[in-house]
Amino acid sequence: MKRISVIGSTGSIGTQTLDVLEQHPGQFSVEGLAAGRNIELFLEQVRLFKPKKASVADKGAADSLRPFLPAGVELFYGEEGLTEVAAGTDADTVVTAIVGSAGLPSTLAAIDAGKHIALANKETLVTAGHLVTELARKKGVSLLPVDSEHAAIFQCLNGERLGDVERIVLTASGGSFRHLNREQLQQVTVEDALKHPNWSMGAKITIDSATMVNKGLEVMEAHWLFGMDFEQIGVLLHPESIVHSFVEYRDGSVIAQLGNPDMRVPIQYALTYPERWPSETKRLSLSEAGQLHFREMDLERYPCLRMAYECGKLGGTAPSVYNAANEVAVARFLNGEIPFLRIESLIEETLSRHTNHSADDLDTIFAADRWAREIASSI
Ligand code: NAD
Ligand code: MG
Repeated sequence: MKRISVIGSTGSIGTQTLDVLEQHPGQFSVEGLAAGRNIELFLEQVRLFKPKKASVADKGAADSLRPFLPAGVELFYGEEGLTEVAAGTDADTVVTAIVGSAGLPSTLAAIDAGKHIALANKETLVTAGHLVTELARKKGVSLLPVDSEHAAIFQCLNGERLGDVERIVLTASGGSFRHLNREQLQQVTVEDALKHPNWSMGAKITIDSATMVNKGLEVMEAHWLFGMDFEQIGVLLHPESIVHSFVEYRDGSVIAQLGNPDMRVPIQYALTYPERWPSETKRLSLSEAGQLHFREMDLERYPCLRMAYECGKLGGTAPSVYNAANEVAVARFLNGEIPFLRIESLIEETLSRHTNHSADDLDTIFAADRWAREIASSI
């Protein structure tokens, strides 16, 4: 029996994680579940999976949930509740599926408590990659990627020597607006932006895919997960999302991982690694796919990717500022406050006001995160 906790259980990754568990009855126990404010769905999940600990966003949400809670479920809320579910249960593995740098404290608490991490929350590695990976090494826990590109690279590296790797390449679908030029991007709406061609995901990451911030965050995530220099990490447009990413070796061999786009496959692998368990996912037929397309990435079309490389190379507080400014910009876009192209200029302006410094501890990282949020909200 594998013991699991899920942080962010009502979201896109969270619900697909619970799908995976349901496909393997008797093989998993759910020790803890945490979510935000979707009380109705959360209650269904709690009734079905009967975790020992559950947590919601705040006291109000907890109060409305409490009367309906099945016996034996301890209820928490807020930041403390997240930490309780992440670190205070008998889970062996914690799935980190909340969105944004808000996931950092609970992820660190889980690692500190010796839990393996099935890592969906990439913002955690972007803002504090050095602290997270160092603590994981010290505690002897694994950071198993859920992000499809990183799950692919992880599989392509299996059994290989890191010294033999020349380069890794992350594929990018291009998001909702991949057929539009910058001129056309001036007119797009929130509704258009939320229609991703290949994946059904949470709102924030769907917008991040359209701006290419998502790929930028993934480049930094790959840097920390696989110890690659930024010069060794490439990005290639691949509209079909079938080649999930690949590794180029020094003998000229290229190893790629392929499959139909279905997040339940990388989620399951992160939970069962090093084993592979059966899955009902639709089988890939290359003859049905017929053709696969690849295009070089244009950093002028996608300035957010250029800025991500710059911030990644700079290190220090720059990645946190990039991430926090983006979180605010995306929220403002989703609220209808700013047009789509303003997301990238808000990030750029926030970065231009920032004086980069080293980020040796959490306080420095949180301070940079708060500072960037203030700037990006006020511009
Ligand atoms: P989502 O918005 O669908 O879900 C987020 C979940 O976190 C919800 O359950 C929400 O209630 C909960 N949550 C948010 N803030 C919270 C808080 N402060 N306290 C408690 N719960 C909180 O997001 P998603 O698309 O599932 O993405 C989650 C993470 O996984 C992100 O970091 C994203 O980048 C990453 N990711 C997602 C996908 C995907 O296919 N959706 C793929 C790769 C990586
Ligand atoms: Mg991804």
